[in-house]
Amino acid sequence: MFADLHLHTNFSDGTYTPEELVMHARRHGLSAVALTDHDTVEGCARMSAACRQNGLEFVPGSELTAELDGVELHLIGYFIDTEHPRLLGEMAKFQSVRQNRIREMVARLNKLNIPLEAEAVFAIANCRSPGRPHVGRALVQAGFCATLDEAFERFLKKHRPAWVPKFKISAVDAMALIHEAGGVAVLAHPGLNRSDDVIPLLVEAGMDGIECYHTKHTPSTCERYLAVAEQSHLIVTGGSDCHGLNKGKPLIGTIKLPYSHVLELKSRADEVRRSRLTPRPLANPPVS
Ligand SMILES: [Zn+2]
Ligand SMILES: [Zn+2]
Repeated sequence: MFADLHLHTNFSDGTYTPEELVMHARRHGLSAVALTDHDTVEGCARMSAACRQNGLEFVPGSELTAELDGVELHLIGYFIDTEHPRLLGEMAKFQSVRQNRIREMVARLNKLNIPLEAEAVFAIANCRSPGRPHVGRALVQAGFCATLDEAFERFLKKHRPAWVPKFKISAVDAMALIHEAGGVAVLAHPGLNRSDDVIPLLVEAGMDGIECYHTKHTPSTCERYLAVAEQSHLIVTGGSDCHGLNKGKPLIGTIKLPYSHVLELKSRADEVRRSRLTPRPLANPPVS
């Protein structure tokens, strides 16, 4: 039995609907899938229903963009309560920051004599968590770029003329939020973020796991993080980070994580919930 614990739908910057994604998961023989859309859990209800219909196990999640010591990190919260009021409140803030970022990127494009409108981007995104691929698709659709790759190369990549830095929650706060919502905090694709120096700080701050298996990790990168996981007693996760048809070929099916990792993830989620229910001892207990 195999799982893919890193997937995106059109509730953020993926192109598949939850139902399409589940269909592909089934076609690839996966038994369990997690939805990890950026800064939202809105797709989880439909994905959960589609999984139930197709006999797949569903793990709710979300991928938060965070930061520690100036390093951008992506933290996935697995098994978070998707109706947790504070989590939803914080996500609404992240989403409005994303929408403002789109407006600012469009304003920069306008200054470059590209008359794109923010509304065109929002129409393509059709979700509360829009991102750069939506701006790219709008540029292609309006004929300003031939491909999404060209849009990123010319305008949207870091330090290109229409790029706007993204607000990031501190990684410590992000993990606290995930834990408060009953979830397991996992560092996504550490090999893509130069995050090695901050991993000890993350572990100290309560990080639960690390995504060792990822489409963009080389075998040696994967080995390195498996060793980190072993040393720091972190659970190991993995996933394809499939965004549908955004970047050519869909990645679902490229990572087949043994199901034992899902069991470990579940038992860690149980531990998080138990520790949430146990009141913390008072720092200064009253003297009786
Ligand atoms: Zn990511
Ligand atoms: Zn992702």
